[in-house]
Amino acid sequence: MNICDSDTIDFSLSTIYGASKVTDVLYADVVILNTCSVRSQSEQKAFSYIGRLEEFKLQNPNLKIVIIGCMAERLGYKIKKRFSGVDLIIGSKDINITAFKIINLYFTNNYLKKNFNYKFKVIEYVTITSGCNNYCSYCIVPFVRGIEKSINYQLLIDKCSLMAKNGTKEVMLLGQNVNSYKYNGVNFSLLLKRIASIENLYRIRFMTNHPNDFDDKLIDTITNEYKICPHIHLPMQSASNKILKAMNRKYTYEYYFNLVNKLRKKIPGVSITTDIIVGFPNETERDFNDTLNAIKTIKFDGLYVFKYSARSNTTAFKMFDTVTTEEKKRRHSVILKESNKISAKIISKMIGSTQQVLAEKFDNGIIKSRTRTGHKVFINGSEKYVGKIFNVIIKSVKVNSLYGSIINKI
Ligand code: SAH
Ligand code: SF4
Repeated sequence: MNICDSDTIDFSLSTIYGASKVTDVLYADVVILNTCSVRSQSEQKAFSYIGRLEEFKLQNPNLKIVIIGCMAERLGYKIKKRFSGVDLIIGSKDINITAFKIINLYFTNNYLKKNFNYKFKVIEYVTITSGCNNYCSYCIVPFVRGIEKSINYQLLIDKCSLMAKNGTKEVMLLGQNVNSYKYNGVNFSLLLKRIASIENLYRIRFMTNHPNDFDDKLIDTITNEYKICPHIHLPMQSASNKILKAMNRKYTYEYYFNLVNKLRKKIPGVSITTDIIVGFPNETERDFNDTLNAIKTIKFDGLYVFKYSARSNTTAFKMFDTVTTEEKKRRHSVILKESNKISAKIISKMIGSTQQVLAEKFDNGIIKSRTRTGHKVFINGSEKYVGKIFNVIIKSVKVNSLYGSIINKI
């Protein structure tokens, strides 16, 4: 979501105002730092980076430092108290006027060139909902991104069409909870169908899905529309019903497990990934083992695991953080190890199979591509393949990445 917000600002700055990106801070007039508040570690990283940016100001006193995103929303001008070199702070709720504010800060009218120098990427991110109303007890998102809002349906269609016309082959639809999208009677399933009808757009992905908003119609749409990639990111967080309740996730493990089975039955070859939090307040060894066993049973294609981080404003913040840092680390690494083992087994079964891939990038003689299920495939080739869809045969696996060779271009 942050990449998407940064792209939106980049788009406005370059298309409306004629600004362009540089490759090094040393050559910049303005540095925009987009921040995340989900865990305190992300904020610590941002703080240390701001410190380093201030040092650049010594070499270039005209450099402007702009802090945007969730940390800017949460802390506002408190950031400036700690870092006097910061020039502007714009919270995530003001994302739409960010480019305008930045231009007002620095650029003069000479900069308003109106040269359309924005280059759309092969894969573009498109935010379809902002904010969230779920108030999971650990999560800061509803406080820093506000209540859930769905973006105007027609605007989304226009945006995806414009991208497709300018070389984009795949769109990744983003939201905290994409499957609760609703705009003037258009739900997520209808939105997907409409985007799938856009000419020259070949793939549609989406994340994140909330298990409670996955209905049968949506499953049918994903099954029937070939352009929709069969990859579902479906955060489970925990498999202990006691912890799920305390997290305010509003589903049980049994419900989640049945949903996974239904998805696997109905969507051929679907890949399912998840998010897990370890060390939530009062998570006992038994609760943790429930989650570990569920991971062994479900066998996710991949997962992200996070150590619980207490965030202010959330209801869990008032709970006692019972699990020690050491124990969180241990649980984190146990899950990671197990899941890496499972993912490795799953992808090693792909050796010898034919996969349809979209080439995203070319670097040092190697094409980086992805299968429809979202697995990364590296191929020897040339730059001319970037943006193309073709079939590859999977030859080998190395550290969770696949290596293939081209069979034919589609
Ligand atoms: N809206 C999405 C995800 C939002 S944040 C969803 O509901 O699934 C991405 C992930 O960060 C979450 O799925 C969760 O696993 C993790 N996360 C969020 N808040 C956290 C916290 N306070 N501590 C640790 N992990 C957290
Ligand atoms: Fe946070 Fe829960 Fe909303 Fe996801 S669904 S953004 S975890 S409150």
